[in-house]
Amino acid sequence: KLSAENLNISFGSKDVLKNINVSFAEHEVTALIGPSGCGKSTLLRSFNRMHDLSADAKISGTLKLDGLDLYGSETRVTQVRKRIGMVFQKANPFAKSIYDNITYGLKINDLPHGKNVVEKALQEAFLWDEVKNDLNMPATRLSGGQQQRLCIARAVALRPEIILMDEPCSALDPISTLKIEELIVHLKKRYTIVIVTHNMQQAQRVADKTVFMYLGEIKEEGPTQQLFHYPKEEMTARYVNGQF
Ligand code: ATP
Ligand code: MG
Repeated sequence: KLSAENLNISFGSKDVLKNINVSFAEHEVTALIGPSGCGKSTLLRSFNRMHDLSADAKISGTLKLDGLDLYGSETRVTQVRKRIGMVFQKANPFAKSIYDNITYGLKINDLPHGKNVVEKALQEAFLWDEVKNDLNMPATRLSGGQQQRLCIARAVALRPEIILMDEPCSALDPISTLKIEELIVHLKKRYTIVIVTHNMQQAQRVADKTVFMYLGEIKEEGPTQQLFHYPKEEMTARYVNGQF
């Protein structure tokens, strides 16, 4: 189980996350929603150790995946990223062939990287049929939606336990978006998924649980349908009804 306990993150004098306590249940999709700047990406990235890169980021609290302390002094970043994959708003395939996009991370992690593994990952991301005859084509020639599914294939190839997605559809057309939503629902049988989205319909279509954030805090969380239709907090009601 992935969790944050008493998590605080600040950049310089700016407190961006304030005493966050949250956990994500296995084989569920959790949507993170809230106004722009409330800290959704900061929270998501903290689980992937992305703040190590920023010199002025101050982090306190505990981030854990089961017994593994994600920021423990013994814990290596590669170990964290093997178990927790991430997909970004803008698809970011490597400037390599479709095939090599999948094998790259497998080689780094010393995992089997034969053709059958590549095929399986592409199938799992609903991309195999579209690319099976073009595996040596540069990935950047794929359409935006295909590139995003390739990034998902690249993540699942490592057999992570968790997949974090930061607005994975916000650069895509409606049809590609629906395809990725279908994929998300299919993937949750095997993975725990956390998705940041600004699309309220999307949250309701894919998420079992929804977490509403406001100004660096979790204001409310609950089963998705309950949070949208019977919010407990006035702020949540305003946000989910588009009154921001
Ligand atoms: P959006 O919906 O627009 O993507 P968000 O909820 O994902 O917003 P974050 O990107 O987490 O918001 O940003 C939260 C706050 O933290 C913002 O005020 C942002 O400027 C600030 N912030 C994020 N990263 C840094 C950083 N590396 N240095 C300084 N400030 C940062
Ligand atoms: Mg963001």
